[in-house]
Amino acid sequence: MSPRLLLNKLNAPRLTLSLLLLLSVSACQQTTPSYKTSIFSFGTVIQVEISDVNQVQAQQVFTAIEDDLKRMHILWHPWQSGPLGRTNSLCGMAGTFSAPTSVIPLIIKAKQLAIQSDHLFNPAIGKLVKLWGFQQDSFDKNTPPDDAKIQALLKANPRMTDITIKGVRFTCNNPAVRIDLGGIAKGYALEKIIANLKQKYQVKNIMISAGGDLKAIGQHGERPWVIGIRDPLATDKHTAIASIRAKSGDSIFTSGSYERYYLANNKRIHHIIDPRTGYPAKGSLSVTVIHPDATTADAAATALFVAGPNQWVELANKMGIKYVLLIDDKNNVHVTQAMLDRVEFIKEPASLFVVRP
Ligand code: ADP
Ligand code: MG
Repeated sequence: MSPRLLLNKLNAPRLTLSLLLLLSVSACQQTTPSYKTSIFSFGTVIQVEISDVNQVQAQQVFTAIEDDLKRMHILWHPWQSGPLGRTNSLCGMAGTFSAPTSVIPLIIKAKQLAIQSDHLFNPAIGKLVKLWGFQQDSFDKNTPPDDAKIQALLKANPRMTDITIKGVRFTCNNPAVRIDLGGIAKGYALEKIIANLKQKYQVKNIMISAGGDLKAIGQHGERPWVIGIRDPLATDKHTAIASIRAKSGDSIFTSGSYERYYLANNKRIHHIIDPRTGYPAKGSLSVTVIHPDATTADAAATALFVAGPNQWVELANKMGIKYVLLIDDKNNVHVTQAMLDRVEFIKEPASLFVVRP
């Protein structure tokens, strides 16, 4: 394995433009050239690599991806005045209204996954996420909220089951519901973008990675696409603990406490909230999931992170997730046997707990 992909990703220059098109024939390829681009969207650098196409086709595909990402980002922003923002404002008044059709399919999917995860993946807790200050792009100056405010939101108990959708008729039975799709939107976006590229451009070999998340089809010349799993404890962000070779159609998603956080009294306040306590989830440093469906992989990584080292096995079984790697806050690695068969460790874990079916 090589952590090359991860290194490329983390070394990516800060991008100020929405798209920095870096068409370049990958230097190391033998017979199959590949083309790469980096796009800044969803608060992260999205890298795309495509092989078995010519330069003109690659350019077309990159433009299509950029357009899709731009559109989806506006659709799913919870607090701006786009379609989800408007849906959220109407939810605050409770009652029935017509929701924009552009957000309904993702909200339906989010509700199904919330139910499957026993509401540990709970995108209805937008108000809690905002209370902790993670709705902003920059949060280094944040301070933790008052406990009383957290308890008030817990008491209101917003859940996706407070919402019913019939066609475009949207009923919100709990005014505390604010939908935050941050735990699932990247997965849904990658799934939709790849489906679109397959259908419209007959793309067969492409890898799209967003932060620590990846969806790939086909392969890279003779080799599979490879993703590194970041070492959550390394101060050097470029260090991978392990790598996974993606099979065609795999979605590999990681939720980590290192992605978005701030420090308060030397404690890391991260962005994945345990809906049972209202506080950042304890016990996990990162969770990686492989699943054919990127939306499911994204939601499951968030839910299993919240479940933590003592409850993840039960939840993974319930959600039908076969491939899981969880690094706990003592740096122990917990894996399913199926995942262990797919992972190559670069650094030996402190201890390894393998769950066999
Ligand atoms: P990342 O976005 O870093 O890949 P996740 O997929 O785990 O990580 O998504 C985390 C985001 O999901 C948070 O920034 C927040 O917007 C939202 N979120 C936080 N806690 C939860 C939760 N328990 N269930 C659903 N969404 C959550
Ligand atoms: Mg997620």
